[in-house]
Amino acid sequence: MVTPLIELGDVRKSYGGAGEPPVNVLRGVSLSIGAGEFVAIVGASGSGKSTLMHILGCLDRPSSGRYRFAGQDVTSFNADELAWLRREAFGFVFQGYNLIATESARENVEVPAIYSGMGPQARRARATELLSRLGLGERLDHRPNQLSGGQQQRVSIGRALMNGGHILLADEPTGALDSTSGAEVMALLGELSDAGHTIILITHDRQVAAKARRIIEIRDGQIVSDSPDAHDAKHEGERARAGVLDTKTLLASMSEGASHTASVFADVNEALRAAWRVVWNNRFRTLLTLLGIIIGVASVIVMLAIGRGTEREVIAKMASFGTNRMYVTPGGDNARGPGGTLDVADVERVAHVPNVAVAMPFLSGQVTLRAGNADIRTSLWAVSPEASRVLNWKPVRGVFFDAGDERDLAAVALIGKRVREKLFGAADPVGKHVLVNNVPFLVIGELEEKGATSGDADDDDVMLVPYSTGSRRVLGTTHLSWISVLIDQLDLAADTAQQIGATLERAHHVRDFQIYNRAASVKAQSETQDMLTLMLGLIAGISLVVGGIGVMNIMLMTVKERTREIGIRIATGARQRDILRQFLTEATLVSGIGGALGVLIGVLIGAVLIAANVPTIFSVRAILGAFACALFTGLIFGFMPARKAARLDPVVALSSE
Ligand code: ADP
Ligand code: MG
Repeated sequence: MVTPLIELGDVRKSYGGAGEPPVNVLRGVSLSIGAGEFVAIVGASGSGKSTLMHILGCLDRPSSGRYRFAGQDVTSFNADELAWLRREAFGFVFQGYNLIATESARENVEVPAIYSGMGPQARRARATELLSRLGLGERLDHRPNQLSGGQQQRVSIGRALMNGGHILLADEPTGALDSTSGAEVMALLGELSDAGHTIILITHDRQVAAKARRIIEIRDGQIVSDSPDAHDAKHEGERARAGVLDTKTLLASMSEGASHTASVFADVNEALRAAWRVVWNNRFRTLLTLLGIIIGVASVIVMLAIGRGTEREVIAKMASFGTNRMYVTPGGDNARGPGGTLDVADVERVAHVPNVAVAMPFLSGQVTLRAGNADIRTSLWAVSPEASRVLNWKPVRGVFFDAGDERDLAAVALIGKRVREKLFGAADPVGKHVLVNNVPFLVIGELEEKGATSGDADDDDVMLVPYSTGSRRVLGTTHLSWISVLIDQLDLAADTAQQIGATLERAHHVRDFQIYNRAASVKAQSETQDMLTLMLGLIAGISLVVGGIGVMNIMLMTVKERTREIGIRIATGARQRDILRQFLTEATLVSGIGGALGVLIGVLIGAVLIAANVPTIFSVRAILGAFACALFTGLIFGFMPARKAARLDPVVALSSE
């Protein structure tokens, strides 16, 4: 006894239930079909033929009953094996052709080979050859709507043959065709049968059925007649015919073929190509939906760039004041509190506090300068030799005084540019003498121009002398104006300020001084800036989420519009993961395009801002990050629609629209 290719035993199919009265469409169908047979299943419309074909082609499962394929129970096959059967063993030809409208004839024929992992060149060659053989060599690049019904049906036969098409399942293949085209298609099926293909033809037309070698009649979901004589007589003969596939060979190739997949790269490449076409076909709609992502990405990039630019500028401004600087001034913070004083001993105390780099006495007063016949009033600053570093002020001519001058009460001075102009004009002041409140001083240097003026005071209208000389020989006081402090580590500023306070309070037994912590205020400023940047980024992030919802929306729309296409793809052998991959790729591509456009627009806006002198600093990390966020958004929001597509029931999908 030979194992039949297909064997149904008491197959039943009913719809409904769960509240509705069940419709019994198939009511106990038993039949067996051998390899190489040409069987017609005839019956009136509504008798259950299509339902039977869907079950035979593994697009649908029976409600009950047995289905053995090459002796194997089909219920024992996993999803991949069923997909393999649809892909490699079966080839479907539908009444309505079921071609993918957006693809050309050749591409439609290629579809099953994509899912079997055939390379693009081989695929293209085989599709071209098949279509030429079917008389469509001139129509390779035509879309389905550019072809006649007969031509479309031949394309769909080509598609059914693409992966071998050992078993052709044709559901009313001539139903939509005129008689001539119908006859052509029937002749083609006859040739294919002669070449060894097993053909199961479904029709309501007895004349069409008569072309088959065996006729099974179905009525109200039951087989009412078969032509067993033809069946028995020819069965053995059919098998012996050349080209007829042996069931054992088929099963063997399934066990290795089901798990076979093309390389991930080829798959992704294929999915990208298909996705690009869909995106391009719907470019206007896609672009509109992408606005959210585009705006999101562009604003993230621009806002972060402006945020960084402004922050850098603020910090730079602060640094020019000296960010690591503090001042200790005499007098408590209460006007009626103790009016204390600070002196050099306090400077020593402050200098010994950890993290203090320099503590400098600062004593200022108004003095009269006289040189030659010039006579001016100016500010005198009595400072230590560290002043150059503390004030960030260097001589342009001559030198700064040093520790020796400080120790020896040397009468040496540096003058600002304004003082030099008033006293000496354009001449070099170094080596000249100046009377400071009638005490003669030697000018040893001229300070570089600060240029900054604050109110009436001009920073360049000043004379610097060693603290010891200034306090004792000119101003006659040791009560400091303030102590300038430089610290090492900026982030310890608050701590250091507190320790300075504690040290001085211990010495004075009272808090008769104040500490101005500029470092801390700079830090606070930069933190405010960070906060602002974060807020801006957050706003931009929200528009990314809105963009993501747009992507989800467009993907749901696409899935809905292309339900039939998904059905076709499943019928031609796509696995769930193929469909999932395709729609995920599409979502990612869409959002990737949005991200790229966003980056482009963001950079363009930034370039305009830079040209307009707005402080803007691009960061590659922010740009890449925003782009990655866009991709990720697409992936996340595209997943639900893609899964929905992958889980579609092929029969429902095929009958949609
Ligand atoms: P045929 O192809 O022979 O014309 P079908 O197999 O398409 O018949 O349908 C047989 C019967 O099953 C019809 O009466 C139809 O209404 C019913 N039917 C088909 N699909 C469904 C379904 N999804 N839900 C309910 N009834 C269905
Ligand atoms: Mg039908």
